[in-house]
Amino acid sequence: MTKMNFDIISDALRDARTVGVASHIRPDADALGSTIAFALWLRDCGKEVTAYNEEGSTAKFHYLPCHEIVSLPPATPQKFDVFVALDTSVKNRLGTVNKAIAPGTTVLNIDHHISNENYGDVNFIDASAPATGQILLEFFQHVGARVSAEMATNLFAAISTDTGSFQYAGTNERTFAAASHLISCGVDVPGLSRAMYDSQPRRRFELLRHALNTAEFHCDDRIATFSLPMDLVERLKVLPEDNEGIIDHLRSIEGVEAAVFFEELPEGKVRVSARSKFPRIDVCKVCKKFEGGGHPMAAGARVDGTLTQVKNDFLKALSDEIRN
Ligand code: AMP
Ligand code: MN
Ligand code: MN
Repeated sequence: MTKMNFDIISDALRDARTVGVASHIRPDADALGSTIAFALWLRDCGKEVTAYNEEGSTAKFHYLPCHEIVSLPPATPQKFDVFVALDTSVKNRLGTVNKAIAPGTTVLNIDHHISNENYGDVNFIDASAPATGQILLEFFQHVGARVSAEMATNLFAAISTDTGSFQYAGTNERTFAAASHLISCGVDVPGLSRAMYDSQPRRRFELLRHALNTAEFHCDDRIATFSLPMDLVERLKVLPEDNEGIIDHLRSIEGVEAAVFFEELPEGKVRVSARSKFPRIDVCKVCKKFEGGGHPMAAGARVDGTLTQVKNDFLKALSDEIRN
């Protein structure tokens, strides 16, 4: 990472007095942790900071220190000198936050998705980083910012979850250097890990039980899938945030090369979440055919159609990707 690159971020924010920060719909810990850490840094810099997420800070993420800084976006446009979008590959994935950004606002887009559409007025995209949180920590180190224990905990959560606990592609010496630095800033690793990985609500466990009971195998058992129809969401009382990570149980099976989760949405759409086990299988490429995006080995899309239709179409495209 050259000095010049990070100067893009510093330059964009230098003269800003009011700054908005937000991340994508259905936030993960990289989205919210990055939002909170960046908002805390901006506040330390003396800026007037507002942080949004379409869902606010959901109960699942209340282990993130200072999560109260994230609020629901108002329905009317707000004036900011700069608006920072984090971990968000396409602008419409800011969801209802878009309505809160007054037209003409300078947008600073900081992200690690290879599919990022460079929708900002200023774009800082580092697809070699496994998490937006890692980009932010390296930026903070570059500018010599003080990283508080609260900021460090948010960034550690961001990096830990997006790398599947330091396992996935993109996890390298930079990632462990970032983690090491964050621990020196005061992260309680076992406490945070307990909150992230050993505190799932019972209803999520019931969803997992259902997923394991109804999992299907396709493409000579090289693809594992599970589906979540809306009536089941009602019966199990699951929240959108409960789905995250269940797909990893399917990918973990020997011989399975890709896993897909199909979630029926109320508006006649299906949310597709796809994971690959090998770099040669590019699920981002497949999701792009359905107007989605993401990373080569973790991607998603929202597709018009019924559960059965979308499942058939997507599995056909994915089977082609696997067999070719
Ligand atoms: P998910 O399967 O929802 O955990 O998402 C996996 C990755 O794909 C994340 O990095 C998302 O940001 C990205 N992604 C998911 N859905 C979409 C979409 N509809 N459009 C673009 N990127 C997406
Ligand atoms: Mn994310
Ligand atoms: Mn991310």
